[in-house]
Amino acid sequence: MQNPFENALKQLEKAANIMNLDKNVHAILKQPDRVMAVSVPVKMDNGEVKVFTGFRSQYNDALGPYKGGIRYHENVSLDEVKALSFWMMVKCATVNIPMGGGKGGIIVDSKKLSEGELERMSREYVRKIWREIGSDKDVPAPDMYTTPKIMGWMRDEFEKLVGHSDPGVITGKAIADGGSEGREQATAQGGVYVTRELMKKLNLKANETKVAIQGMGNVGGFMAKLLAADGFKIVALSDSKGGVYNPDGLDLDKVFVHKEKIGSLSGMDGVQNVSNAELLELPVDILVPSAMENQITSDNADKIKAKIIVEMANGPTTPEADEVLSARGIVVVPDVLANAGGVTVSCFEWEQNVKDQKWSEAEVLAKLEPIMVNAFNEVWETKDKYSVPMRTAAFVKAIERVASKIKV
Ligand code: NAD
Repeated sequence: MQNPFENALKQLEKAANIMNLDKNVHAILKQPDRVMAVSVPVKMDNGEVKVFTGFRSQYNDALGPYKGGIRYHENVSLDEVKALSFWMMVKCATVNIPMGGGKGGIIVDSKKLSEGELERMSREYVRKIWREIGSDKDVPAPDMYTTPKIMGWMRDEFEKLVGHSDPGVITGKAIADGGSEGREQATAQGGVYVTRELMKKLNLKANETKVAIQGMGNVGGFMAKLLAADGFKIVALSDSKGGVYNPDGLDLDKVFVHKEKIGSLSGMDGVQNVSNAELLELPVDILVPSAMENQITSDNADKIKAKIIVEMANGPTTPEADEVLSARGIVVVPDVLANAGGVTVSCFEWEQNVKDQKWSEAEVLAKLEPIMVNAFNEVWETKDKYSVPMRTAAFVKAIERVASKIKV
């Protein structure tokens, strides 16, 4: 198992070498500004106290308050949280929003907790870190197995502790609780804006372009609908159990109704059933991983037939696979750019809370589009300038931006 933080440091080093990063700034960026490891004792429903371990890594706030989700998962580790906070710094800087990088987590299988236990754990975690968070310091958000409801409890606990209202302390809240319109489809919408720019650069037409999407949750589901509305031919779509494929294009309404009714994609007429592994190797123009990390690896990178990969999931391509794809001339739009629409609208939520404003969905999307378009074009220019893949270009651009604000 690769250590994610070591991978992050390797990526930093690669970018630093290309851009000739000042060695003092490089040294500063090799470590998070602050890491908190906290014990989270919870009175369980049976009266026993169980002590969980939580973390919050604040990587760098040169561009604005630390920003990043809180993950509840058994595999959470300090190195994972540190790496994720580094990648959040890169993501926020890639799209040039006024946020730094942060990430948190608790080692827990939260599906085994009752609602009461979950609430007590979430509130206790905030009691351990509240002095270091706030709308002007560090703004957490949901991540794996954390929800708008949990964000609501955390905000409430924080406000009790500081003694005043601060809705911008946390994002990903329910709309009624100060959440932003447009957040639900923001990640996919951002991915679509970026894909449109790429199509222009490569002189491709949507109606001649076949797309396979792995995952049909929030990101994959919206991605399918929005790309289809642009005229793309969605030929494959999957959930955790497998996918469906029709080389002539799927009837998306039928696919979503079937999934809703049956709970899976099996048993549909007029389609071929494919496994998630097979979906990745279909003869398509664009592949959109929108589910899990580590899907494109050294085992299958040489079998991918798509010419373009738009990484909507976080970390779907391993570093080894990246080398293979790059050597094969496959264009990879990296996660830090492709899926940054989500954090951008989280930043909008924070901004609305801090300024006591409420923006409509149309306003949110109108602000999102130029941010994604500019970020894409900057990464594209950086790629050409240094003759590197888009992922390296995004890291170079992001680190340039962070470095310009670090005084040594
Ligand atoms: P989700 O839980 O709504 O959907 C996940 C989808 O993946 C589901 O369709 C599920 O069936 C499928 N899936 C689960 N296990 C799978 C497997 N082993 N193989 C193939 N498919 C599998 O999650 P989401 O919010 O759509 O997030 C998807 C990805 O996008 C994640 O990597 C997430 O980190 C990333 N992401 C999400 C957002 C966001 O705003 N939701 C923002 C940035 C990045």
